Amino acid sequence: MTCNCAPSSEQATVVATRSGRTLAAQLVVWMVVQMKPQIFGLMVAVGIIHAEWDALTVRDHARVRAEAGELALQCPADLDTDALGTFTGEVERTGTPLETAIAKARLGMAASGTALGLANEGSFGAHPANPFIPGNQELLVLVDEERGMVVQESLLSHRTCHSQTRALDIDALQPYLQRIGFPRQGVIVRPAVAPAGVHLYKGLTDWTTVANALGMCAHASEDGHALVQPDLRAHLSPLRMRVIRRLGWRMAERLARLCPSCASPGFGRLESRSGLPCAWCAEPTRLPLAEIQGCSACSHRETRPPAHGLREADAGYCDRCNP
Ligand SMILES: [Zn+2]
Ligand SMILES: [Zn+2]
Repeated sequence: MTCNCAPSSEQATVVATRSGRTLAAQLVVWMVVQMKPQIFGLMVAVGIIHAEWDALTVRDHARVRAEAGELALQCPADLDTDALGTFTGEVERTGTPLETAIAKARLGMAASGTALGLANEGSFGAHPANPFIPGNQELLVLVDEERGMVVQESLLSHRTCHSQTRALDIDALQPYLQRIGFPRQGVIVRPAVAPAGVHLYKGLTDWTTVANALGMCAHASEDGHALVQPDLRAHLSPLRMRVIRRLGWRMAERLARLCPSCASPGFGRLESRSGLPCAWCAEPTRLPLAEIQGCSACSHRETRPPAHGLREADAGYCDRCNP
């Protein structure tokens, strides 16, 4: 992907309050470059802890910095987004993924005093197109207080693993750990049948720690087994990091598109309208008939042909011909 902005000699200023965030901050710099001059010289708060930002890096840092102009990026140091819910269930999520992502971005904005915030939220479950394979839905939002808009992009991947297993000892666990990509993919270990107050062990990335946790959890469990599952926090899940990285590029592309009506950044797909006619009986199917593109700041909408480019649907998708 290339940057379509005119090069500038201005110096980029990237402020990341935590070491290790600077590289990650580059994507935001790049995204803001794309929005120039709509959002230029503003501060973006990053409502993200864990390592989602490590996934959101760009390679061509030097060029980005040369073109970025003056920008200060703030990554609040003590942001507790776990208060909005945890993967392991100690804190239950109450909002939708969109509400949670916006709340995370606002936490970052409140901590940094900025009018722009960016945050990510992931969810896992059965793939909507096929309940027999797993799905990972990632959402990235940009909250723009001044324009009163939220730009969102999402990405669904079937390349994920959230299966769990029960084990008595580390030897029995080896095939499972190999399958999920341990130790790059971290794991959580807990008693399979847990008495109240028993601790779970998460973020485990070495064999000795897993073996120890397994022994303790199996011993504490009423049925003598430990339950082992992948730790799906982004910094412990390479597959998820890959999805977030792709999503970051998608968001950057979207922010580069300006609304034809009000020139706000982030013009793009809002929803699909189903109803592509069946090739046999011409009845509407569930396949998309049109894509609605729109602006997050104003009510401008455009109807476009869907990305699949089809004029009619295979009868296999028709509830009448293939019930
Ligand atoms: Zn049909
Ligand atoms: Zn608009």
